Amino acid sequence: MANFVFSMRSLISISVIAHNIKKFLENIWSRDPSCKGFPLDKSNARSHPRRIKYHTRPHTRPIWKMPGICYSCGERRETKRCAACHHAHYCSKTCQKRHWKKHKPNCIPPESSLHELFDACAKDLFPSAPAAYDYGFDNVKLYHGDSVLPGRSDGLTPKHVLLGLYQLITKDIGNDELPNVGEFLSDTPVYNSIGASKKMMLEAFEKNSLDDFLHRYIRSVIEELGDQLPRDCYVFLWTRHRLVIGPTRLLLSETVGLTQGQVVQMRNDIYQRYYET
Ligand SMILES: [Zn+2]
Ligand SMILES: [Zn+2]
Repeated sequence: MANFVFSMRSLISISVIAHNIKKFLENIWSRDPSCKGFPLDKSNARSHPRRIKYHTRPHTRPIWKMPGICYSCGERRETKRCAACHHAHYCSKTCQKRHWKKHKPNCIPPESSLHELFDACAKDLFPSAPAAYDYGFDNVKLYHGDSVLPGRSDGLTPKHVLLGLYQLITKDIGNDELPNVGEFLSDTPVYNSIGASKKMMLEAFEKNSLDDFLHRYIRSVIEELGDQLPRDCYVFLWTRHRLVIGPTRLLLSETVGLTQGQVVQMRNDIYQRYYET
């Protein structure tokens, strides 16, 4: 009970902090309508269904969520879970040992909000707070608004493009880590030439450099497979609409110390690094 009360308290204080930071940023950014590339006009905003289609390729059932499948041999006889992350499951010690090399770059602490992002991607849903805050969904809406992208009849907004991009990445990571069971992963081409992993994503998140990570991934995909991809693949939509998310990890103590000018400068620096050099 004590634990429950404690965790409820920390959850409440996290959401209060996140809310305060969001208000702070909204205040600053809504007072700076001059920055080009960041349409802040929300008059056009409308709501969209939370569930979206996996839009560039057929949706495959995510093995992350398939109960009982061994991460190593793919047999449906899970009995053990990885003690470090509580996520990877195995049928035997032998399978777990054999799989460690593949699992190691993806073994992250069980409490990480990155697990929520992966779950959301697998379910084709936007993550809820705090993962939405941590991985830039709130930011992309703040920076670029919530309107349907120009010329789209399918209702895609910047947030949908971010989800789609994360879906490509999480499927790639799955392709590298997990066995190809039945039809579940076989239709997904491997894009992952930058060696993306859960650890790499977590590190980028902790260093506040998720934008760098996303753009590195996008560049490598376009270089390798650009000709073969449909024009409305998320990697193209991201750059065509000049989207950015970071920084996503401003702490309240940092925001208190920052002036409006400094925050606007941070946003402009990121934008320029990707789109104006
Ligand atoms: Zn096994
Ligand atoms: Zn693990």
